Parts: sequence; C-alpha cells; structure tokens
Amino acid sequence: MHEENSRNLYDRALSVMPGGVNSSVRAAIEPYPFFVERGDGGHVVDADGNRYIDWVMGLGPLLLGHDLPQPVASAVQKHASNGPMFGAPTPIEVEHAEFVTRHVPSVEMIRFVNSGTEATVSAVRLARAYTGRDKVVVMQGSYHGANDTTLVEGEGTHVHPSSPGIPDDFAEHTIAVPFNDHEAAQNVFEEHGDDIACVLVEPVLANYGIVTPADEYHETLSDLCDDHGSLLVFDEVITGFRVGGLQCAQGEFGIDPDLTTFGKIIGGGFPVGAIGGKAKIMRNFTPSGDVFQAGTFSGHPVTMAAGLETLTFAAENDVYDHVNSLGEQLRRGLTEICADQAPEYTVAGLDSMFKVIFTRDGPDDLDGQCEAGCRQRTSCPRYDYCPKNGGDVAAGETDRWRRVFWPQMKEQGVFLSQNQFESQFVSYGHTEEDVEETLEAYKQAL
Ligand code: PLP
Repeated sequence: MHEENSRNLYDRALSVMPGGVNSSVRAAIEPYPFFVERGDGGHVVDADGNRYIDWVMGLGPLLLGHDLPQPVASAVQKHASNGPMFGAPTPIEVEHAEFVTRHVPSVEMIRFVNSGTEATVSAVRLARAYTGRDKVVVMQGSYHGANDTTLVEGEGTHVHPSSPGIPDDFAEHTIAVPFNDHEAAQNVFEEHGDDIACVLVEPVLANYGIVTPADEYHETLSDLCDDHGSLLVFDEVITGFRVGGLQCAQGEFGIDPDLTTFGKIIGGGFPVGAIGGKAKIMRNFTPSGDVFQAGTFSGHPVTMAAGLETLTFAAENDVYDHVNSLGEQLRRGLTEICADQAPEYTVAGLDSMFKVIFTRDGPDDLDGQCEAGCRQRTSCPRYDYCPKNGGDVAAGETDRWRRVFWPQMKEQGVFLSQNQFESQFVSYGHTEEDVEETLEAYKQAL
C-alpha cells in the first residue's frame, strides 16, 4: 500500500494545523491518518490512490453515500449557483422546516443552526431560560459536541470539566448519571428535581460504542421530567433520520421529548444543526422571545437544499430498508465471527449502525446467538455481558482498536471509525459485496 502522499500531507498539516487536523478524532490513528481525495458509493479513495470500503460515512451525515442521487445533486448545484447565501430568509428553509415538522411529531417548530454543537448549546440555553433553572442532567459517556456544559467527567454532582479552558464552576450545574440506570436518575431527581432545567440524552449512546436503551429507560426519564417540571431534550444529532427512519429514534422508542437537537443527516452532508420542539418552548428564541439565538450561516440555502432533498429521496425510495438490512447482515455476520473467534467481544448497534466493542468478558459457550446485536433484551443469552452504559464500554480493551485492529482493517481496505467509541454507519451507497468483504476482513483481523 503506497502512503507517501498521505504522509507528506500530514507532515505539512502538522506545521499549520494543531495536530494536523480540523477535528481531533481524525488523527486518532498513528502514525498518521490517510487523506481522502474523493468518494464514490460506499467507498473512499485516498491521496495515494488506495480504495477503502467506508463505514465512517463522514461520521454519520452521509445516509445516501458519496454519490448524491440526481435530485440532490441538482438542488445543491442550483442553490450554489443562485448565490451561496444572503443574510435574509429563503424559501428552501421554510420547505425544510415543514418537512421535519411533518415527520417528527414532537417537533412543532425548528431553528436551523450550523452544527450539532451549536444545537445542543442553544437547546440547553433555551431549557434553562424556559424553566428558570440551571442544572442539566447528562449521561456519563454521552457526547453533545464542544459544549462547555456537557464536557464533564465524574459522577453525579461530583463532576469537573473534561477539558482545560472550561471554568470549574461551569460544571457545578451539570449532573452526570450512568445511562440505563433508572435508580441513579430517580435519586438525582429526588435530591435536585426543583433545580433541574433538563435531561439531555442521546436516545442511543452513539459516541460511546453504541449502547441501546434498556426497556422503559426513556419512559423513566420522561416521567421524571414531567413530574418535576424539567424538560426532556433528545440529542438526535446522530440518530435523527437514521434510527427509526423518518420518525427518528423518538418515534422508534415511542417517546415525546420537549426538545430535540439534530445535525448530520438533516444537512445532507453540509454543515448543519437544528433545535426542534414544542412551539410554546421554541417561541422563546429570539426574535419571538428573548432567549438569544442567531447565526450568519444558519439555514444556509445549499445545506437546506441538500438536507431536504436527501430526506425527500429517503422518503420516496427504499433507503431505510436498504441500509437497515445491510446493518442487520453486518451485525449477524459479526456476531457469528465473534462467537467463534472472540466471544468476549460485543456486537452492538441497531438499524444502520454497527460496532464491535472490545469487552473483556463473554459466555464460554454462546448457546445460540445474540438476538439482534446489542438491543439490551434480557432474554438474549449474552445480555449480562453487554455494555449498559459508557463506563462498561470504557472498561474494554479500547486501546487495542487503535494499536492493532484499525491498522489491520485498513490494510485490508476497510475504513472503520478511528477509535473504539465512535459508531459506524451503513449508507445507501453500500452493497452486499461491501458487507461480505468487510466480514472477511473482520475475520482475518480478529
Ligand atoms: N451531539 C451528538 C450526539 C453528536 O454525536 C455530535 C457529534 O458527533 C454532536 C452533538 C456535535 O455535533 P457537531 O460535531 O456537528 O458539532
């Protein structure tokens, strides 16, 4: 495998960009990342001409793969050539907002922004203003972007910022509980219920190995919020328009959050974020209310066109059937491989997301297989060994991913997410052949 061009680019990048990249995870692999030249279908080609099956898919946004179907490509070109943006509202923003509010019942109004981070920052500000309270409950191991409120380590009220540069007292308002632990959530509400503005939760922990919710977990959070006048905020930046298709994870799990944050897929591969929710809460954003929210690029016409056409294409074609069925094939194949070669490892995921988590323990003899990856069903023979929260994932052999596993998969032409924690994604551009080749590569590497 030739790698000179990527190595040279990385050397140059290190001189002019901190760590050589514009987002940390891209450089998680040593000694250097490969630089991508272009993509097609479910593949990327790097600067040295090496071709990889791509399961990173931009870290989630590329539901349709690297080749934009004709209606999406034409809409992007049309809106780019109309003039990139205007600092005034455009018709396409209204159309996209109408699409989302039509398909996601809890979303009566939406505000588009430019990233998932911006969405969670604004949602937390809105929840605090609406309730007149400061405290925010998050899950240990969840990720909500570069948000000073949620970048915390620790447990309960004993949390501190996870990055230098965030004042310690910011973390005083954040409470971290383990995902899937009903009792921990109940205890926190018992003690702090009157001060809690919101619970901010990914419906599925998608940045921490993929952990699905246990039965009734989100119902518990929702009931606690209702009983204490707090808001339930679903962070669907990853799961939105992926898990559960057009109804999103909240539809799949039957939950009606007060607010939802979106990103990734709703921008069709262009920078995006959004906050959606009940009109009585959303109207508090400026200019109809007094909770400050603004952005030069918000509702960018090219992004709106790409997002709306992507979702319209998904609504009118077999996109979700295709990606979910390949996801199922991958998880089933990986479950068989792990049962045979590494029974201590956990195959996790749902719909079009998958990951092998390097847990340290498993049954000696997996009599029958996992029922459906890691859906936290107590009837599954592997249930006791599956990670239930971020701590369980972190306790695995996480370093093995970077040191041994990822480089071996790359050598075989398979591009996986750069650490043990990030999810992997199936797109409409992937084929059964991609799945078979990938399973063969896993077999070799494991
Ligand atoms: N929320 C979740 C659940 C995410 O996965 C991410 C990013 O991966 C974010 C928020 C932040 O989004 P962005 O990277 O667009 O700022």
